[in-house]
Amino acid sequence: MSTETTDADVIVVGVGNAAMCAALSAREHGARVLVLEAAPEDQRGGNSAYTGGMIRHVYRGVEDLRQLIPDLTDQELNNIELDTNTEAQFFDDMGRLTQYRCDPDLTEVLVRQSFDTVLWMRRKGVRFQLAYGRRAYRVDGKFKFFGRGAAQIWGGGPELMKALHTTAARENIRVLYEAPAMSLLCDDRGVTGVRAKYQGRTADLRAKAVILASGGFSANAEMRARYLGPNWDLAKVRGTQFNTGKGIDMALQIGAMPTGHWSGAHATEWDMNAPPFGDLTVGDSFQKHNYPFCIYINAKGERFVDEGADFHTFTYAKYGREVLNQPGMFAWQVFDQTVTHLLMDDYRIKRITKAVGNTFEELAGKLDGVNGRRFLETVNAYNNAPRPDVPFNPNILDGLCTRGLAIDKSNWATRLEKPPYHAYGVTCGITFTFGGLKINTSAQVEDTAGRPISGLYAAGELVGGIYYHNYGSGSGLISGAVFGRIAGREAAGYIKAP
Ligand SMILES: Cc1cc2nc3c(=O)[nH]c(=O)nc-3n(C[C@H](O)[C@H](O)[C@H](O)COP(=O)(O)OP(=O)(O)OC[C@H]3O[C@@H](n4cnc5c(N)ncnc54)[C@H](O)[C@@H]3O)c2cc1C
Repeated sequence: MSTETTDADVIVVGVGNAAMCAALSAREHGARVLVLEAAPEDQRGGNSAYTGGMIRHVYRGVEDLRQLIPDLTDQELNNIELDTNTEAQFFDDMGRLTQYRCDPDLTEVLVRQSFDTVLWMRRKGVRFQLAYGRRAYRVDGKFKFFGRGAAQIWGGGPELMKALHTTAARENIRVLYEAPAMSLLCDDRGVTGVRAKYQGRTADLRAKAVILASGGFSANAEMRARYLGPNWDLAKVRGTQFNTGKGIDMALQIGAMPTGHWSGAHATEWDMNAPPFGDLTVGDSFQKHNYPFCIYINAKGERFVDEGADFHTFTYAKYGREVLNQPGMFAWQVFDQTVTHLLMDDYRIKRITKAVGNTFEELAGKLDGVNGRRFLETVNAYNNAPRPDVPFNPNILDGLCTRGLAIDKSNWATRLEKPPYHAYGVTCGITFTFGGLKINTSAQVEDTAGRPISGLYAAGELVGGIYYHNYGSGSGLISGAVFGRIAGREAAGYIKAP
């Protein structure tokens, strides 16, 4: 083992969104920064690289979005109807979705700093666009936005990473790839560096402050089974294979406080034949988020969830768990031609598990592993359930619901009556885990007595206490950006203190 003197004031662990925001912020505040990344360079970016770039932030209307997306034209704006995501709406969603468990102090920071932070990301080279297709459908020639997340990062995760890394290189931020952090170095005053592997050697890298931004434990089957419960070890991983919980573990080893929903995770519907870990050439397209317009069928041939309970942006992160809990851990999403024009591009990729039938009987024979007789009974009952006489509208909670079924569908319950019928096979794909480290509003990691650990900061997925049970889409990137930016600034301030 060698002790290396680095010229860095601050070491950042990870190269995802949270880490790069932390690194850029620390640099902006005068610190010299070294970044350590476990993955090889061609797989850089952690889960952030897999995202479609949805990002949730406060916007009160067109003028806010114009600041973020200055190239929005009047002509474009004439063809759309925007929603808003005011601070009050963002707070309400955080409370409602987490069953009022989200840490109030961290949530306040997240919400109130979200808009300023996306503008800051823009200054760091990240570009934004409106999220057509994912957040708005064309109805009568107009796009009406829903779900309180109208903007997305232009080019998704890959462009996000390119932008942050280009700026980092310009700012002389050094990144070491294939350099996994193994443990934290500390003395009685606090954290003094990181023990890491680099080029096959173990090295003690000294710095005045460390920012952990190395993700949760979604890619660690043993931890998933241990904390999330039975069968989570068998779930597919939507993103990187490098988020093994090491950063959390390193901090717990020196007395950091675990917090949050350790048995909870963000998990979605994911192609049943997707590879065990994410594939950067496919990105997030194994996801199948248009289930509000389908009926879900499990191995017994039965529905098991209210597909239309809300916009997918507010249910998709918890429905992966519902699929995991079905026999065989799979389900089929069945659509008719009334709605197939609304399906996102994710339904048109080459690597897809799809069955088509001109009749339900034909389709039943193609749904692998499904009780076909019961499937036919389920479709029949669904189609014959009474409904109010309201028009179907994908851009609003239209109230087109079934009545009298064991599980009613609350919105968008059009009958399946226009063949050919399309079915897509899905299983549970885990996105990231909710449990993690306790931080304060300055992104300092706290110990089990509630005191900040000197020199130790954290941001991103490995922070606990923000998400419980469920999640509104686009919250992961904004959380990493807000707390990454704070962590960088605070760490830079800390190293200057006498
Ligand atoms: C398919 C998919 C789609 C998603 N879509 C969206 C979306 O549209 N919007 C949204 O807000 N969120 C989305 N998310 C969630 C989002 O990706 C995460 O919440 C967020 O990007 C996490 O950022 P992070 O920086 O904390 O972690 P990551 O981006 O995962 O970065 C962690 C980094 O740490 C590295 N690392 C791990 N251990 C070590 C170690 N010991 N030493 C050094 N490095 C280490 C990893 O290799 C990785 O590069 C999606 C996730 C996936 C998987």
